Amino acid sequence: MSLLIVGSVAFDTVKTADGVAEDVLGGSGTYCGYAASFFATPTLMSPVGEDMPAGRLDEMRAHNIDTSGILAVPGGKTFRWVGRYNEDFSERTTEDVQLNVFGDYDTTVPESSRDAEFVFLANGAPEAQQAVLEQLPNRKVAILDTMNHWIEGSRAALGRVLTMVDGLLVNDEEARLLTGETNLIAATRRLTGMGPRFVIVKKGEHGALLAVDGRMFALPAWMAETVKDPTGAGDCFGGGLIGHLAGQGEATVDAIRAGMVYGTVVASFCIEGFSVVRLQEITRDDIEQRREKFLEMITWRQ
Ligand code: AMP
Repeated sequence: MSLLIVGSVAFDTVKTADGVAEDVLGGSGTYCGYAASFFATPTLMSPVGEDMPAGRLDEMRAHNIDTSGILAVPGGKTFRWVGRYNEDFSERTTEDVQLNVFGDYDTTVPESSRDAEFVFLANGAPEAQQAVLEQLPNRKVAILDTMNHWIEGSRAALGRVLTMVDGLLVNDEEARLLTGETNLIAATRRLTGMGPRFVIVKKGEHGALLAVDGRMFALPAWMAETVKDPTGAGDCFGGGLIGHLAGQGEATVDAIRAGMVYGTVVASFCIEGFSVVRLQEITRDDIEQRREKFLEMITWRQ
C-alpha cells in the first residue's frame, strides 16, 4: 500500500574512534527510506539544497525509492549534522546541526502522495509533521519519530501532533525526557496516554519495548559484532517497521511485532558501515536469512 516518508535528507560528518566520514549522505528520511524500500516503494519527502548531487537521488531511485517528494530549494543548502561517538559507541555527541533548508520548508505534499495510507514522520519539526498529516485524509497508519532537539524546543507542537498519530517511536532517553519518568516501563505506558495507540521505545543494543492495546512486549537487539557507525539505526528500525506494515496493509499487534523484527534486522546491517553503504549492498534475501538467525537467537523452547 502507498507509503510516504517525511524526514531529513542530509550531509553527515560522523567521527568515530576508527575514523571520520565527512559530508556523507545521511538524514532521518534517507535512512528510513532505504530501510523501507526492501518491503514497499516509499515516496520520500524532504527539502534539499542545490548542493545535493543528482547522483545521490539516482541511487535512491535505483533502490526502489520514489524521490518525487525531494525538492531542491533554489539557492538553498542541504541540512548538515556532525556527530561524534565514544570508543564503544555507547555515547554520541552532536557537535553541529545546521538545519538550512530543513529549518523552514514548504510542507505541501506532492499531489501524487495525497492518498498515502501509510505514513512515517521521521525526525523533523513537529509543526511540519502536523502540516503534512493534515493533507493526508486517507491515512490508515501514521508513525512519528522524534528526538531531544524537538522535545526540548517544540514541546507544545509535539504534544499536538502526538494526538494525530497511531504510533510513536522514541529512544529511552527521549521517553524519559518526554514523560519525566525514570522507569522505562512507566514511561512507555505514560506515552500511550498522550495519543498514540502504540509506543515503541528503542534501547539501542538492548533492544526495544512495545506498548500496544494495553499489552507490553520486549524485543532484544541483534548481537552485532561489527559496528562501524550506529548513525541511522533508529531510522532504519522505523523504516523496516513501516515498510513491513505497508507491505502487509495492516497494523495489527502481530504485524507490529513482526515489523519490529524486520526493523531490528535492517538496523543491524546499517551499523556495519558508514552512511547507507551497507543498505545499498544487501538484498531482501540477506534480510530474511539474518531474520531467521535472529528469531532462533531470541526463541527459547522449554
Ligand atoms: P539516528 O542515528 O537514528 O538518531 O539518526 C541520525 C540521522 O538523523 C543523521 O543522519 C542526521 O542527519 C539526522 N538528524 C540529526 N538531527 C536531526 C534533526 N534535528 N532533525 C532531523 N534529522 C536529524
